[in-house]
Amino acid sequence: MKERLYRFHKELNRPYDSLDKLVTRALSLMIQQIRMDFVSFFLLNPQELILSMELVLAKDSWLEIDEEIHLLEGSPLWQLTEGKRKYLLYHSPYPILYVPLKWQGQTPPQALGVLRLERTGSRRSFTARERLLAQNFAEELAQNFHQAQTDQKNREQLNRVSTLTNLTEIFASSLRVEDGLKLILQGIQQYFGFDRVRLYLVDRQAQKLKGELSADIRGQVKSLSHEEIPMQPGVHRFVDLVLGSGPDPLLERYKDTVLYIPLKVQGQSTGLLIVDNLLSQQSIAQEDVGLLRSFAGQIALAVDNARLFDEVQDLSLYDALTQLPLRRYFMQRFQEEIYRAERFNQPLALLWLDIDYFKQINDTYGHQLGDQVIKEVGRIILKNLRKIDFPCRYGGDEVLILLPQAKEEEAKAIASRLVQEIRDLRMPVKFSTSQVIQASVSLGIATFPGDAGSLEELMQRADEALYWVKSHGKNGVALYRETVKTSQ
Ligand code: GH3
Ligand code: MG
Repeated sequence: MKERLYRFHKELNRPYDSLDKLVTRALSLMIQQIRMDFVSFFLLNPQELILSMELVLAKDSWLEIDEEIHLLEGSPLWQLTEGKRKYLLYHSPYPILYVPLKWQGQTPPQALGVLRLERTGSRRSFTARERLLAQNFAEELAQNFHQAQTDQKNREQLNRVSTLTNLTEIFASSLRVEDGLKLILQGIQQYFGFDRVRLYLVDRQAQKLKGELSADIRGQVKSLSHEEIPMQPGVHRFVDLVLGSGPDPLLERYKDTVLYIPLKVQGQSTGLLIVDNLLSQQSIAQEDVGLLRSFAGQIALAVDNARLFDEVQDLSLYDALTQLPLRRYFMQRFQEEIYRAERFNQPLALLWLDIDYFKQINDTYGHQLGDQVIKEVGRIILKNLRKIDFPCRYGGDEVLILLPQAKEEEAKAIASRLVQEIRDLRMPVKFSTSQVIQASVSLGIATFPGDAGSLEELMQRADEALYWVKSHGKNGVALYRETVKTSQ
């Protein structure tokens, strides 16, 4: 018997990539070792006191049977799962043996379920030896099952973490795309696999909660603009949740299949995100609830940014010559990016660009050609930036560029590329075939939080770095940190 157990132990301790495979392997080993016709694996739902059949193996085949056993308190099977009995043996109509699956890693041991062994083709009962073997097998399986379950949970947790990273990227990149809100909703729907995700936004002026978008299980996005709810307490549960006057102002779960996430930015309610599994009736996993709860702030910020983007576009805060955002828009975004960088502990770089000898270009070739140079510089900047970067024509021949999540090296690489491409520019001069205009730029770089702790400081440091380049031959790039070292 020891040998059989040892073999069982060895086999089960191999790595299995799913719980199913582990259980299947264990049951088929058992059916080889103990003569029987069927062996079934039941898992216990301790809250509802239900044993549900997960797998049945016949001597040489699988069976597709669903069976649920509702445990009555005090019944023999209940006593078995409670640890009050070591096994159950019936003889009617044929020999049936139940042994418990218990994880011994805690006291008292945790009931995981039961195994049922059936000898339908014979009247011969299970011997004491067979019973003992079954109990030992069950014990071994229970330990391995628990371990595999923990591994699986860890894997799922890892998946959730990578989901979070992916979503953060989606949120960040939605800053500058028109379909930002759509991307956010689809991202949440897709990564968590909810049946539906709906977004309502607060319209402060109109004092209404307005339906915005809904993303469904097929990734389809529909407008909810026909839904408008007055922002008055007691009118609608959605509004109550947003106003914080509902039963649970933060996160309320409704029958486990709906989750409400009020959105807030810097203390202000901005909307309501509702995720549900109403169609599939799958309960939302506790872990997903936790993740969304901790994520609510970031979702709110992303939603707000996307909305801001739309609003700002309407106000036409873009420079007509370069298509770059103007200073007012930039400063607003800058504030938000600093806030985001601080809150999520991410780096942020600021580039300050200034065209070299621009007055001279104007004086030599005229203002119109000067404009042309600025336009070309703008084009090269837009071409080279990542989606999440945010440039602005700050004024005259100066451009500021925010690089969220960029460390020094990345910022320097982007800046150097800009300098290089602008240096390589050749612009024809009207009415002259021999002459071309060349331009160059100087760039100062400062990073948050390395060089500066505030928005103002970051601007000042970038400006200082730019000044350093201007006074050291122009046509190049400097990191603030390097200029400090060099001047000491
Ligand atoms: P530096 O290398 O030190 O930057 O010298 P600079 O000649 O570029 O001097 P500065 O940056 O101080 O001067 C910017 C000039 O750009 C001043 C202004 O006449 C010109 N300028 C500002 N806005 C425009 C514009 O929209 N179009 C044109 N053509 N020129 C502009
Ligand atoms: Mg200049």
